[in-house]
Amino acid sequence: MDLQALIDEIAEDLLRVEDRGQVANYIPELAKIDARKFAIAIATLDGASYSTGDAREPFSIQSISKVFALALALGKVGDGLWNRVRREPSGSAFNSIVQLEHEHGIPRNPFINAGAIVVADVILAGHQPREAIGEILRFVRVAANDDTIRINPAVSRSEQEAGFRNAALANYMRSFGNIKNPVEMTLGVYFHQCAVEMTCIQLAQAGLFLANGGRDPTTGISVISADRARRINALMLTCGHYDGSGDFAFKVGLPGKSGVGGGILAVVPGRASIAVWSPGLNRQGNSLLGTRALELIAQRTNWSVFGP
Ligand code: GLU
Repeated sequence: MDLQALIDEIAEDLLRVEDRGQVANYIPELAKIDARKFAIAIATLDGASYSTGDAREPFSIQSISKVFALALALGKVGDGLWNRVRREPSGSAFNSIVQLEHEHGIPRNPFINAGAIVVADVILAGHQPREAIGEILRFVRVAANDDTIRINPAVSRSEQEAGFRNAALANYMRSFGNIKNPVEMTLGVYFHQCAVEMTCIQLAQAGLFLANGGRDPTTGISVISADRARRINALMLTCGHYDGSGDFAFKVGLPGKSGVGGGILAVVPGRASIAVWSPGLNRQGNSLLGTRALELIAQRTNWSVFGP
């Protein structure tokens, strides 16, 4: 299979699509992004990489950062994390607050905002926010094997200023004792991790360890155990696209995590890692054309966790 020809063809076909979804506008800094941006990058376990479109342009990875933060938090506290966040699909929006009341401040999973805020709180324990943020950034840089990756301060500030929902979630969980640090510090960590910027090429590289039993095939570094990599993939498949997770599993058939910046990271266990970027979102807050691109890649390569 000529992967380069495949992604070039998909990019060309999707260029003509008129409906590109809505760019996220609740974070003012993200609303400025050109909806016509589009990129695909694939990194394979044998060290090859393929890319097309704006694949060298950094974008806000937003909730895709939740995957790296989860891996880091599990490394710190192990399975004890599951006392503070569960592992069930939420079936509700990324920033929903209603479930939290019924479930006594324990979020459904680490990929909805409430769960990711708990994960940020775990990473923050015993540190200053600056150190925790540095640790997350370091993890991403090691995974991507690229020290140039940075956090965009304008985006984190923009989120901080507009983050009323996330502040509500964090305060609500704090009232149940499930946020241990001062709420503004935990939120500071969370907003900064969401403001990490990466290109599709960097992101595809950073996802490779999840396709390869926790070990980065290019550097040989063991990032996490094989067991954890499998479980993170399971959570990406069941919870990676909020209440669009079932549809993503149905259409694409691969573990994936989306972000409101329009990026999606998808993992093909044993084969490859794929990053796509198209800023327009569907109703569930997932990249519209990014999902379509992954669907086409999966269809034409027969890559799926559900069989050939
Ligand atoms: N930073 C975003 C928020 O907290 C992340 C949401 C997302 O990417 O889905 O609202």
